[in-house]
Amino acid sequence: MSTVTRFAPSPTGTLHIGNVRTALHNWLLARQQGGRFLLRIDDTDLARSREEHVVAIRADLAWLGLVPDGEERQSARFDLYEREFQRLVAAGRVYRCYETAQELELKRKVLLGRGLPPIYDRAALALSEADHAARAAAGEAPHWRFKLDHAALITWLDGIRGPQQFDPAMLSDPVVRRADGSWLYLLPSVIDDIAMGITDVLRGEDHVSNTATQVQMFAALGAEPPRFAHEALLVGAEGKLSKRLGSSGMADFRAAGIEPQALIALLARLGTSDPVDPALGADDLAAQFNLAHFGRAPARFDDAELERVNAAVIHQLPYAAVADRLPSAMDPAGWEAVRPNLRTVAEAADWWAVVEGPVAMPEMDAETRAYLAEAVAAAVQIDWAADPWHALTGTLKDATGRKGKALFLPLRQALTGRDHGPDMAALLPLIGRDRALARLRAAAGL
Ligand code: GLU
Repeated sequence: MSTVTRFAPSPTGTLHIGNVRTALHNWLLARQQGGRFLLRIDDTDLARSREEHVVAIRADLAWLGLVPDGEERQSARFDLYEREFQRLVAAGRVYRCYETAQELELKRKVLLGRGLPPIYDRAALALSEADHAARAAAGEAPHWRFKLDHAALITWLDGIRGPQQFDPAMLSDPVVRRADGSWLYLLPSVIDDIAMGITDVLRGEDHVSNTATQVQMFAALGAEPPRFAHEALLVGAEGKLSKRLGSSGMADFRAAGIEPQALIALLARLGTSDPVDPALGADDLAAQFNLAHFGRAPARFDDAELERVNAAVIHQLPYAAVADRLPSAMDPAGWEAVRPNLRTVAEAADWWAVVEGPVAMPEMDAETRAYLAEAVAAAVQIDWAADPWHALTGTLKDATGRKGKALFLPLRQALTGRDHGPDMAALLPLIGRDRALARLRAAAGL
């Protein structure tokens, strides 16, 4: 059976780093197995779902390169849910309840006060048909719970957490349908996982107890459950996700100059025993993806690490991958000259402005001005077609006896207006003879 995974966001907001990580892992798993990765929009909550979020989710996945092999929407599948639900009604696996939120809260408090686990007491199971009829006559509609089979121990072999075991008697029968007829997430998800042939459900460990009840829903609907794996949640370097990037959406990452490849390289490995390697592309990451390498401890997401990975990714990006984001006059040589100094692609424009000028000149003392006057004399003589920087500095070294910083820094300052920057050997040919001479003359006070 070929692998089918799904990413199932509820479109009640934009994707954050944790969702994206889950999406990526499902995509990698499907890709590794030559299977399919589905995007399932879990929009059963019509009041809170927004079309603009659906559009943004698709756009974010596209930006990241996590293109789904198919897309489904729960709001288009209510007829199927109704049919499957009626099967469960007929089989006595769902039952009608009327407790209000306040009543349930009170029951919980009483149990907790007695030191007991706050499990729903199934009081509604005792209602007779006459009771239900009386409720209906009073205009009261029921919500529905799935009746767990207390005789069937719940077990599964979790792809990350190992063997899992739950006593169903220690779980509340989950509410699957509200009094207004709308669906909670649990049952539609199982119905869809069956109908879509999902083989692997890979999601956050906040879903472990959902999985326990869903395992019985698969059985109640006559289906084998998929393989389950629950990954430890993502936390920030200081225990919670940072305000700056951790809690923000993909638009903020994009605006901060983060490349999708950097997010992919980092998120593919975060929480695993495999090192983050900015050189690895999606295919490598898919080939090496292994659930067994995931740890149980929370995975730490650190803005600073993302920025390091981002810089390393940018330092490898070919011109063609970024040309449309560079100043139009910047050619491949220009990109290669500045690339090692960039933290974001947008910074290339700053360096291109240095190439094209004008540059702000620092004040030079008399001795430095005299040195730069010698540099002007050297610059008019050297061959600009070959390697002007080494020709210039070689000539000046011989002529002045200067070396190291005393040789290089005044030249860099005069030519770029800055103390640091890309390799001058790469930059100087881009600045070119005319601009270089003008800058050296100005700095020398000539
Ligand atoms: N819509 C659910 C959520 O966003 C899906 C969880 C799942 O992957 O089953 O939490």
